[in-house]
Amino acid sequence: HLSKRLATVGAFVPAGARVADIGSDHAYLPANLALNHQISYAVAGEVVKGPFENAQHEIKKLALTTIVQTRLADGLAAIQPADQIDTITIAGMGGPLIRHILATGEAQLIGVKRLVLQPNVGAETVRDWLMTHQFKLVAERILAEDGHTYEVLVADRTTTAVTYSAAELLFGPYLLAEKSPVFVEKWQHELQRAQAAVQQMQQAKVAPTAHLDAAQAKIALIKGVLE
Ligand code: SAM
Repeated sequence: HLSKRLATVGAFVPAGARVADIGSDHAYLPANLALNHQISYAVAGEVVKGPFENAQHEIKKLALTTIVQTRLADGLAAIQPADQIDTITIAGMGGPLIRHILATGEAQLIGVKRLVLQPNVGAETVRDWLMTHQFKLVAERILAEDGHTYEVLVADRTTTAVTYSAAELLFGPYLLAEKSPVFVEKWQHELQRAQAAVQQMQQAKVAPTAHLDAAQAKIALIKGVLE
C-alpha cells in the first residue's frame, strides 16, 4: 500500500511504461506499479548501499526480479540504453538535488518522454530546469500528508519552446490556476516565513543584499497570488 504522495506519482506513470525510479530506497513505487500491472519494466536506482539492499530485498520478496531491476548507481547512471526507459520518476528529495540528477544525466534522457518529479522543497528550480530543457509541464498536483505539503510535477518532452513567468515558476502554472485550499495554506505559511526572514535581515542592519531583494520579491509574488 503506497502513501498518498507516492500513489500520486504513480498515477502519472503511463500504462505499460518502462520506468526508472531514481532514489528508490525500498523500491515501493516500482514494486507497486509492477504488482498492479501498470508497467512493463522498471529500474530501481539507488546510490546508497543500505537503501539499495532494501530495494533488492523488497523486489526478491515480491518475486518481481524479472520486471524490476535494482541498481546501485548515482542518479541517471542507473539507466542503460538497453532498458529503453520512457518514463523517469524521482520522488522524496529536494528540488536542487532532483535538478542536479537531471542535469548530470542528460545522455540518459534520450528516449525519455515523461518525467514525474516530486520535490519535497524547491519545486521552482525543477520547473526552471524543465523549461530550459524541452520538457513541458502537463499536470501538477499538490497534496498534504502527515503534516507535510508535497508537489508532484508531470512533464512531457516537447519540441516547442515553453516559457513560464516568475510566478508560474514559483507556484506552478497548474497549481496557480487551481489555487486549492492546500496550495493557499502552503503559501500563507511561506509568506510568514519570508516576512520573518526579511525582518531578521533588516534588524541585523546589514547593507541590503541579494538575499533581501530575493525575499522581498518573493513576498510580493505571494501577496499577489493570495489576494
Ligand atoms: N523515492 C522514495 C520515496 O519518495 O519515498 C525514497 C525517497 S528517500 C527520502 C531519497 C532517496 O534518494 C534516498 O534513499 C537516497 O539515498 C537516494 N538518493 C539521493 N541522491 C541520489 C542519487 N544521486 N542517485 C540515486 N539515489 C539518490
